[in-house]
Amino acid sequence: MARIIDVPLHEAGGSCDPRAVHGAWGALDAAARRGLLYTPEVKVETDHLYERVRHVIPSIEWPAYAPLIAAINRMKREKNAVILAHNYMTSEIFHCVGDFRGDSLQLAREAAETDAAIIVQAGVHFMAETSKVLAPEKTVLIPDLRAGCSLAASITGADVRLIKQRYPGVPVVTYVNTSADVKAESDVTCTSSNAAAVVEWAARTWNTERVILIPDEYLAKNVAAQTGIKIISWHGRCEVHERFTAQDIAEMRDAHPGLVVLAHPECPPDVMAAADFAGSTAALQTYVDEKRPAKVVLLTECSMSDNVAATAPGTDFIRPCNLCPHMKRITLEGIYDALVEMKHEVIIPEDVSIRARRAIQRMLDLPKEKPRAFKVGMPEAAVELV
Ligand code: SF4
Repeated sequence: MARIIDVPLHEAGGSCDPRAVHGAWGALDAAARRGLLYTPEVKVETDHLYERVRHVIPSIEWPAYAPLIAAINRMKREKNAVILAHNYMTSEIFHCVGDFRGDSLQLAREAAETDAAIIVQAGVHFMAETSKVLAPEKTVLIPDLRAGCSLAASITGADVRLIKQRYPGVPVVTYVNTSADVKAESDVTCTSSNAAAVVEWAARTWNTERVILIPDEYLAKNVAAQTGIKIISWHGRCEVHERFTAQDIAEMRDAHPGLVVLAHPECPPDVMAAADFAGSTAALQTYVDEKRPAKVVLLTECSMSDNVAATAPGTDFIRPCNLCPHMKRITLEGIYDALVEMKHEVIIPEDVSIRARRAIQRMLDLPKEKPRAFKVGMPEAAVELV
């Protein structure tokens, strides 16, 4: 069985905030208020799903989650709906109601290809917008309209227009963690799985030595270190990943000899330099699947550790818990209510949608490759911040 070991971060960092974690009691109460109970029928309907999460959800908690899970799965069949579940969703959502699971790139591809009439985005708002842009004829629902993102909130379409005025002819590569409005002003989008490949492609295609990569300052620095391309960026940061420090890594290595440290490229460059492996959430999952380390820490949002732990019973996960408060807005009852009431539909003006789709489609049309790992131990690269 996988072990999850929560460790406190340095004082300035965030450890698990119990108020941000909805948890079993919240689900139990929410199910009861909706008249959903753990009946023998619900048990039969959901026992096989519990097998997926038994390494991370205690059996005593399962009757709290099962009624909402059974009701959601029934409603999906009745309404021809699918749920796209991001890696940062809690395990009862990710493994038990998610039809497609993965990082932003994997979910964007699924949104473009699904035959379902309704997409429920178990993720944050910019992800739901991406799904709507790629599947404009479908109804896209976000279970909680407050599920935002510090990176997406850091920049607007008007900001991008000003950047383009200052750097005419320089291609604009935009991280998918942005609004549709920002994507609409961009030449091409990227995710952390393909950021280096997209930046290299943009430099070749525009025949330029400089590329604008916005809005994540740290991702931009990490991509600049990988590619050697001159990068112009923005001062956006992920409020979850910016908290990790190289000092955290040193302390965890001291406390847990043999620890393998995996980092997400939204982390600061000194954290990337001190890690054993770095890449997107999909790359981190693949690393654990293939290498099966005895003891590992994933420097990313902490639900990811639970979701990987559910499929890696022989690995101990050290968890310096940094929660994304926006991702944690998405709960089972929020998904249930969105499907019952068909509420929180994502609407995007057509002209914005058409231009954003062009940027996303350019990314999707690039040759499909395995999520690219970032080289670790690299010196920090300078980027020009606008
Ligand atoms: S983890 Fe960071 S990048 Fe992802 S949604 Fe939360 S704030 Fe945004």
